[in-house]
Amino acid sequence: MSVLATCLGYPRFGKARELKKSLESFWAGKISEEELNETGKNIRKQHWLEMKRAGMNHIPSNDFSYYDHVLDTIVLLGATPKRYGSISNPIARYFAMARGLQNKSAGIDTSALEMTKWFDTNYHYIVPELNDETKFSLNPKKLISEWEEAYELGIETRPVILGPVSFLLLSKMDLNSKKSPLHFLKDLLPLYKELFSLLKKKGVRWIQLDEPCLVLELEKGIQSSYQNALTEIAKFSERPKILVTTYFGDLKENLKIATASKLDGLHIDLVRAPEQLETVLASLPPEYILSLGLVDGRNIWRTDLEATHKILRTAVEAIGSERIFVGSSSSLLHVPEDLNGENQLDTELKSWLSFALQKLSEIKALAEASGKEVPSQTYLVSGYMWLENKKALKTRKNSPRTKNQKVRERLEKISEGDKKRKSTFINRQTLQQKRFSLPTFPTTTIGSFPQTNDVRSARASWKSGKLSLENYNRFLKEETKQCIAKQESIGLDVLVHGEFERTDMVEYFGEKLEGFAFTENGWVQSYGSRCVKPPILFGDIFRPEPMTVDWAIYSQSLTPKIVKGMLTGPVTILQWSFVRNDQPRQATCEQIALSLRDEVNDLESAGIQMIQVDEPAIREGLPLRKSEWKTYLKWAVDSFRLATSGVKDETQIHTHMCYSEFGEILESIEAMDADVLSIETSRSQMELFRDFGKSGYKNEIGPGVYDIHSPRVPSKEEMIDLLEKAKSVLPYPQLWVNPDCGLKTRGWPEVEEALRNMVEAAEIMRTKTEEYAK
Ligand code: GLN
Ligand code: ZN
Repeated sequence: MSVLATCLGYPRFGKARELKKSLESFWAGKISEEELNETGKNIRKQHWLEMKRAGMNHIPSNDFSYYDHVLDTIVLLGATPKRYGSISNPIARYFAMARGLQNKSAGIDTSALEMTKWFDTNYHYIVPELNDETKFSLNPKKLISEWEEAYELGIETRPVILGPVSFLLLSKMDLNSKKSPLHFLKDLLPLYKELFSLLKKKGVRWIQLDEPCLVLELEKGIQSSYQNALTEIAKFSERPKILVTTYFGDLKENLKIATASKLDGLHIDLVRAPEQLETVLASLPPEYILSLGLVDGRNIWRTDLEATHKILRTAVEAIGSERIFVGSSSSLLHVPEDLNGENQLDTELKSWLSFALQKLSEIKALAEASGKEVPSQTYLVSGYMWLENKKALKTRKNSPRTKNQKVRERLEKISEGDKKRKSTFINRQTLQQKRFSLPTFPTTTIGSFPQTNDVRSARASWKSGKLSLENYNRFLKEETKQCIAKQESIGLDVLVHGEFERTDMVEYFGEKLEGFAFTENGWVQSYGSRCVKPPILFGDIFRPEPMTVDWAIYSQSLTPKIVKGMLTGPVTILQWSFVRNDQPRQATCEQIALSLRDEVNDLESAGIQMIQVDEPAIREGLPLRKSEWKTYLKWAVDSFRLATSGVKDETQIHTHMCYSEFGEILESIEAMDADVLSIETSRSQMELFRDFGKSGYKNEIGPGVYDIHSPRVPSKEEMIDLLEKAKSVLPYPQLWVNPDCGLKTRGWPEVEEALRNMVEAAEIMRTKTEEYAK
């Protein structure tokens, strides 16, 4: 008997990103709720049929979402915060939690829930917000109707449910509450049981209970709550079988929580943490199914079938094939859907890759071969697949395209001095203050301005050959010019060029560097309807020529005000690409840093006086376990410093970070030693900022005062309020005033209004503090 094939979840958008288009049309009021649902239904159907065709034995449902699966869980558990209660239409309420809702005529002005990164991925989830008054109630409509939908297509699915402990650990308690989120377990468990018994009555046989928090370091108290919760669920008899799924790391000391609970099966991630197999096999209860996550759900490289088959065989020999599932390491949400959509990649490179659909066949091939010692000699048809796989891996290993001797030699020669600015911050600050003479509370933005339909369609015309490069560039220059003029008229102090020439902050640099390849349709969801198309970093990184210098010179020529040069940092380029898995990430990151260092130095030589190197992804690169942080932070910070330390003292280095908790890595942020840091803080009402005060952060810093994920325009009073909060935390001469992040997803009218409010807020703060000083 061969083992069963499974997958933990599938991309949500459809091959042509149908969901994105429908969502955005729905938000714009162009299509109805029914039409949106129709799109969702078609995508789900297509995916289920595909998985079935690919031979999956356990097929997920409820992995689909119109925005985010944690938000879906908030709705499932009735954990909608009170402030959305007045919105009576369920779908309007759902999207209000995700995006905020401003309807002046109806008197509604509600901000969105916070959003943060899903573990160490670039997927953002909506953070559940709990307080002492939170009451839960079960609302299983979506989950059940999707299961029924598949059932009617003749497909029996395994619903994916975010488990109660992970749900709570991913939640945020109201600041005024003294309770820990786990306090709510006693309220949630009856709801989960109610849900399970409903599903059992329906005829659901298996549930996938996602408990990814089991790979984290947990305090003793949390461990025992975890244990109790899972045990209580296990004891409840009116339920389908439960597969507890873990991913993104090693269970380590938490293995006993999963195995002592007497559930029915455990899924482990053997791509990220292959070393755990032995221990798991040794301690698995005899009645447990073991689901092996052997095909990478996070990266796009073709699976080494032969090597993976060996691991699978170890498990089969240890506990027998009837107790084994083979599947993706995590949900396939984090990889693009189908490699067949790529026609521009050269055949060699393409043969090294595997997207979600191809991964399904790898899973199936492994499942089929689980009973054989040497699979390629046994099957004729799939035998071909095994040989082809071996050949592709061999060409990749021996390819000269992945190595550049010069880059490797330069890497060897990096010294400590290369990673240090010439003087300390205080000395640099004196020189920079003299050079720039900015007012207190200087205003600036993070870099991008609205990528309007005009910008997008000009780019599309150029890409399809309808618009010549010359005309496209002329268009971009005109956009930039207008953008600079608008910023001047708004009264911002430090300007940006607007990033109209960039589709994406990583792709843009990837295209200019050697060692990267690009897909046409390799989209993955970042948040809501937003997708990114991560470049594929397959070889040594090398900068053949300057990347942004011409744009920087042009933009600076348009205004007497300072225009910041704008680059994406090494860690962010690394983190937001599909990175080669044949060398340590550190080495790859340092290669990127060297290329950026050359760019930073060239910008300076070209007369650019402020250079921003964005590192929004530095936090998400952290290993999930604290014990591994130090090593990562050391090379991440070093890479940033390597990129930015080649300049003179009076050149001002900015950096920007957003959408993560920085409290725990403050020391490293300080160690990056940027002259100015802008961070996102407005959604949490400066909560993130408090830590900077506590640690006595010395360099200049701009806390975000304008939430750019929402179309609502913050008033100047709101921003003053935030700035007052910031001022109570750090001395005001250190403060800058800026939005949370780039403005590319917004529209011009709202941006102009908001930035005018922001500039006014800064002016009022200036007057206030000056009067106070008198
Ligand atoms: N400079 C980038 C922008 O403004 C930064 C974006 C980001 O932090 N994700 O779009
Ligand atoms: Zn940002």
